[in-house]
Amino acid sequence: MSELAERVTEICGQNVYSCYQCGNCSAGCMFTDEMDTLPHQAIARVQKGDASVLEMDVSWICASCFVCSVRCPRGLDVAAIMEALREIKIRQKGFTKLDLRKTDLEKLPQIAITAAAQKFTW
Ligand code: SF4
Ligand code: SF4
Repeated sequence: MSELAERVTEICGQNVYSCYQCGNCSAGCMFTDEMDTLPHQAIARVQKGDASVLEMDVSWICASCFVCSVRCPRGLDVAAIMEALREIKIRQKGFTKLDLRKTDLEKLPQIAITAAAQKFTW
C-alpha cells in the first residue's frame, strides 16, 4: 500500500485498492468538465502513491454530491476519498482541526467548509 493510500484509509476508512478502474464513478460525476483529472484517475494516482494528485483541482471541484459513491460497484465511498484528499492538503497547510466557530472561513475553500459542516450535522 502506498503511503498516500495509507493516509487516505486512515482518514476516511476506504481502501483505494478495492477500485478496479471501471470509471463508473467518473461517468456519473456532473463536474468532470471542470476537473483537471477524473475521480477514478485520481484514485489510480493514490493507488500508485502519486502525490501530484494533491496539487490537482479534482477534489476541490468535487461538490460532495455522493453520486460516485452510489455508483461504485465495489462499494467505495469515492466522495469520502475526495474529502480525504482535501483533508491531507488542508493539514499540510497547517489546519489540524476545523472549528467552524473559530476558523477564519475566508482562508478555506468553500468545499472544505461544506464537507466539515456535513460531518458536524450528520
Ligand atoms: S462526490 Fe464529487 S467526485 Fe463524486 S460525483 Fe459528486 S462531485 Fe463528482
Ligand atoms: S466506480 Fe468504484 S471501482 Fe469503478 S473506478 Fe470508480 S471507485 Fe473504482
